[in-house]
Amino acid sequence: MDSITLAEIVWVLTAFVFGAAWGSFINVVAGRLPLEKSVLWPNSHCLSCLNSLYFIDNLPIFGWLYRRGRCRFCGAKFSSRYLWVEVLSGVIFAVLFYLEIMLNWQKVPMLSETSHQRFIQEMPWEGIFFFIQHAILASFLLAATISDFDHHSIPLSLTTTGTVIGLASAVLFPWPWPSNPVVANGLPPNLPWAFNVPPGGIPSGLYVWPVWGPLPSWLPAGSPQLGLVTGLVGAMTGMLMVRSVKFLFEKGLGKESIGFGDADLMMMAGAFTGWQIVAVGFFVGSILSLPLGVIFKFYRKQEYLPFGPGLALGVMVTLLGWPWMRLVLQQTLFDDFQILLMVVLLGGGMFFASMFLRLMGRGK
Ligand SMILES: [Zn+2]
Repeated sequence: MDSITLAEIVWVLTAFVFGAAWGSFINVVAGRLPLEKSVLWPNSHCLSCLNSLYFIDNLPIFGWLYRRGRCRFCGAKFSSRYLWVEVLSGVIFAVLFYLEIMLNWQKVPMLSETSHQRFIQEMPWEGIFFFIQHAILASFLLAATISDFDHHSIPLSLTTTGTVIGLASAVLFPWPWPSNPVVANGLPPNLPWAFNVPPGGIPSGLYVWPVWGPLPSWLPAGSPQLGLVTGLVGAMTGMLMVRSVKFLFEKGLGKESIGFGDADLMMMAGAFTGWQIVAVGFFVGSILSLPLGVIFKFYRKQEYLPFGPGLALGVMVTLLGWPWMRLVLQQTLFDDFQILLMVVLLGGGMFFASMFLRLMGRGK
């Protein structure tokens, strides 16, 4: 381990400042989109006296602290949520930047650790784009989370915009970008595929291995059509998983339990990550939303299962945990029989669980 240099600190701080500034924009988006207001006009103003904020009061984090969370004109209190979102967004950007660019967390061959020093000095654009793609996904998930906390719904305008950006990134940066498409030559060309995957797993790019088995000839590595298929399949996987669970639960429970916004949220995430990460993220997120619901019950005295925020967190946890998860999961994910078995067991389990809940509810 070499020591942290001043240059590294400056880079990470810069990422934090960008993240905090982006966080102010997320505040505007999450505050206005659910009410179907424009995010571009008018500029930031006090919701009580409608005066426009001074430039200095509008600075991220600093502005809120400088005015102590009050309006300069009428003294109305601004929610501390504005501050926390800016801090959180800054921290997310700084952490992502440090992990993905400085440490090459995803172990992308092209961004290998031998180039560590090169990054500090030259900062190749591939590394920056890699980080920005994940930072954009994280900020869309953050905006959706805030909206779900506030309105218990996720605006369609947010998730469709995110899906379009995700699909564009899939087309522009297909697997194995930023590595050379030549890495695909080292992979088994024939089926059965799952058991021939090399011990270190399949090399990750910005998108993980996109298809089931060997790449077909009409989807060569690094081609835009491969990227488009990756993004579309990811988006459909995310949407269909949530919709089928919604369907199973509502058949069992006999009442609405999950919103369509959650399905759109996962559609968007899938366009950014491809099908494996969104599929695993769905399970991680479903588990994470339970403790989140308990926290809500105790702190806000609300009966509310924050499924959308849980899914958003699950996607990010899976994305950052993927360097380890892929080693365990990749063989399972590419084995038809194991996948089928999992779908049947989980689907059946959820249906019976919701039937059981329904019967319990009747007994009261
Ligand atoms: Zn005011």
